[in-house]
Order: sequence, then structure tokens, then C-alpha cells
Amino acid sequence: MHAMKHPAHPCPVCGFTKLRAAPRSSSGVGSMEICPSCGFQFGVSDDDDGISYEEWREDWIEGGMEWTSTGIEQPRGWNAAAALATVKKAVVKRSK
Ligand SMILES: [Zn+2]
Repeated sequence: MHAMKHPAHPCPVCGFTKLRAAPRSSSGVGSMEICPSCGFQFGVSDDDDGISYEEWREDWIEGGMEWTSTGIEQPRGWNAAAALATVKKAVVKRSK
């Protein structure tokens, strides 16, 4: 009925595509959502703790890109490296 797709909210840190809300509203307010993949909490890890997406991503990669949520199950066929590759592409596109 509805032509519009449910909007995807990719995680800017790890590329997980199914965040429930946009990490930041149009006014720049963090969603407070914790990414179940990398564990970044928008509006807290960044605003309160001062950690950049890049720093968090590096740490997460060093830790083996593990699924961090205990309450949300990892999607079937989840591939952290593939998801991450989409973020890196986006980052490259955006810079310059
Ligand atoms: Zn994430």
C-alpha cells in the first residue's frame, strides 16, 4: 500500500543498518540509542564522553568487531566486516 520504505538508519560507526532511530535528529540531538553492533551510544558516547565515531570504530575493530548487545540478537548472516566496509566508503566519499 505504502510506497515508502521504512527508513534505514545506518550506524555511522560500524555500518549496522537497523538502528531504530536516526543517530542524530535534524536539530543535532543524539538519539540515546545504543548501537547493538558496536555499542556506541548516540548523544552519550559522543556528547558526554567526547569520543568520536572514528575513535570508537578503531577501538571496536581492535577488539575484534564483536556484537556488543546482549539484549538484541545478532541478525542472521551478520557480517561486521561487510557492514564496516560500507561506512568506510561513505567516509571516503564525504571527505573532500
Ligand atoms: Zn554501530
